[in-house]
Amino acid sequence: MSALFTQIFVAVIVVSLAIRVWLGLRHIRHIQQHRQQVPAAFNQTISLEAHQRAADYTTAKVKLRLNETVVESVILLALTLGGVLQMLDQAWQQWLPAHEIIRGALVICSAMLISGAATLPFDYIQTFNVDEKFGFNKMSRSMFFGDLIKHTIVGLLLGGPILFIALWLMQGAGDWWWLYLWLIWSAFNLFMLAVYPIWIAPLFNKFTPMQDQSLKARIEALLQKCGFASQGLFVMDGSTRSGHGNAYFTGFGKNKRVVFFDTLLEKLSADEIEAVLAHELGHFKHQHVIKRIIMMFGLSLLGLALLGYLIKQEWFFTGLGVAEASNHMALLLFVLVSPVFMFILRPVLAAYSRTNEFEADHYAAQQSRPQFLIDALVKLYRDNASTLTPDPLHSAFYDSHPPASLRIAKLQTYA
Ligand SMILES: [Zn+2]
Repeated sequence: MSALFTQIFVAVIVVSLAIRVWLGLRHIRHIQQHRQQVPAAFNQTISLEAHQRAADYTTAKVKLRLNETVVESVILLALTLGGVLQMLDQAWQQWLPAHEIIRGALVICSAMLISGAATLPFDYIQTFNVDEKFGFNKMSRSMFFGDLIKHTIVGLLLGGPILFIALWLMQGAGDWWWLYLWLIWSAFNLFMLAVYPIWIAPLFNKFTPMQDQSLKARIEALLQKCGFASQGLFVMDGSTRSGHGNAYFTGFGKNKRVVFFDTLLEKLSADEIEAVLAHELGHFKHQHVIKRIIMMFGLSLLGLALLGYLIKQEWFFTGLGVAEASNHMALLLFVLVSPVFMFILRPVLAAYSRTNEFEADHYAAQQSRPQFLIDALVKLYRDNASTLTPDPLHSAFYDSHPPASLRIAKLQTYA
């Protein structure tokens, strides 16, 4: 069984890597083939220069992410079958033979550190080579590393206690530990959704109440018309890090806030801002957010139940290059390896997300006007240098949002 599981694991890694590389190369080829001409639907609104900039930016990003995917797969194989996890486990075993829970947490942290360090260079290159070259990066190097340190500290402060609780439950809570852990994990996630906008997000960005009174009045009227209660309108200084614009809702229950990137407010007219907000409200009206949360909770319950089974199977450990079964290794292997097997779900989740986007667009077309959302989308595609000509298969597999041409074509039917 152990050898069979190893073979399945390697086969899934190789096949999913091959699919990713194939899709990425298709995407690049498709974009380059359409680089010389702006698609007919956009030739009034997007210049050839902007179109080519988007093609080159997307190509550079895809190439970088392809390299990252290859490195990630190699690192995963090195950690598991290459014996790195086994070495880490033994090293900590020698230094800290007692204190099983603390040792387990340290093994997990060391492994996370290694895999995080391996992908860090790609984020660095994305920011200081790719985004920089296309004029999107506003970050200094000290800010980049400052963010990294802050993220690590916040991650340790929030993740550390959860990790200890998990290992403690696995050790002492009996056969149903995974169910207790799921309850605590779900409660923790709901708590995070509620406090994130108030406690965590301000560590990284400044949020100021919206100043523009006439815009504020229009937005509040729209919120009221749609029956949406929020805890205020905020502008986020997205421009300190990047030139990309966005708008979103954050928080949960009564703590909901509407947040606009300052970059978005600069670029769009009041009508267009309203249309973008109406789209976001559409997600709430159709309860996409709640559905997504329920789906995630369902998936994590299934995952933890599966882990409850796997932890008792010797082949799960030996098949992944770990000689001795333990609670922390079960948890670590599961976190590292399950995304590889979840890869097949990717196109399903992406397709579901795209149907949600169409529903939100439809709602926005009713509350605002289709043309305002079309104008906003064109500007956002242009200013974010997003490609208008993605490879259809790549888009079907990965994209959470439908291609601009399809969204706009659909919006035009509502006009
Ligand atoms: Zn949306």
